[in-house]
Amino acid sequence: MRNAKWLLANLTFFFLSHAGHAQQRVFDVHLHGAKDPHAQLANLTKAGVYKIAISTSWSLQQQYKKQDNLQLLYGLMVPCPNGKVPYSLQACFADGNEWPSLDWVEEQIKAGNINFIGEVLSQYHGISSSDTMLLPYYRLARKYDIPVGIHTGSAGPDHGCPNFKQELGNPSLMETLLNQVPGLRVWIMHAGAPYHEEAISIMKKFPQVYTDLSAINNPDILGHTIFSGIVKRFVDSGLEDRIMFGSDNGNIDITMQSISQLTFLTEEQKEKIFYRNAEHFFNTRR
Ligand SMILES: [Zn+2]
Repeated sequence: MRNAKWLLANLTFFFLSHAGHAQQRVFDVHLHGAKDPHAQLANLTKAGVYKIAISTSWSLQQQYKKQDNLQLLYGLMVPCPNGKVPYSLQACFADGNEWPSLDWVEEQIKAGNINFIGEVLSQYHGISSSDTMLLPYYRLARKYDIPVGIHTGSAGPDHGCPNFKQELGNPSLMETLLNQVPGLRVWIMHAGAPYHEEAISIMKKFPQVYTDLSAINNPDILGHTIFSGIVKRFVDSGLEDRIMFGSDNGNIDITMQSISQLTFLTEEQKEKIFYRNAEHFFNTRR
């Protein structure tokens, strides 16, 4: 009896404290692996994340299984400098290769184990995003109509990739690949910053190109005023339907807050960034 009363009191408190706060739905298009996948996913789900595009070492990725309240899309990191995932330096593939075989990739796409090609690490490898080595992977993505996410802009310290070059993260380098593989759905990871004007130019030219705000929405990486200015530039350029949310393993509440507190965005525009644009990008077949 006492227990029942206690339970009722707590349930009442729970409903009252949650009443009136419809939780923000979030599609996180940029996530990598963590030491404790279960805790990582539980934390994201609690914040309102219902769908995730994840890319990490192939073996760790196998620990991320679809759950009732969470949808997962699986990526393919390519190429892996010295066979390793930047920062964590785990082997990308069991055989230590930098480039997985195309036959294997095609098999995995067909089996539903790869839903997008990315994070494309061309810049960490010291090559252009349009390098001819990457074209066969892009063509496979086009053949199966899956999207490609390419790292752009800067990088944090200690990534462990000696061939990394900042200027290879310029989104204007994507023009060649977009012309060579017409219709390929590409997203410019990290909004190209500090080359965000080049990202805007590419997006204006190619309507199937989207971008994500991951890393730059983390105030530990980029100051909020600069972040705010970048988002405003994309919106003022008429690109509000092609900006997507990503956490890139940053604190989910803080990275979400970076967007919620942008006063120049309407509630509708925030909804688009948090999940609507990503739903459109990942689901639209061409
Ligand atoms: Zn990245």
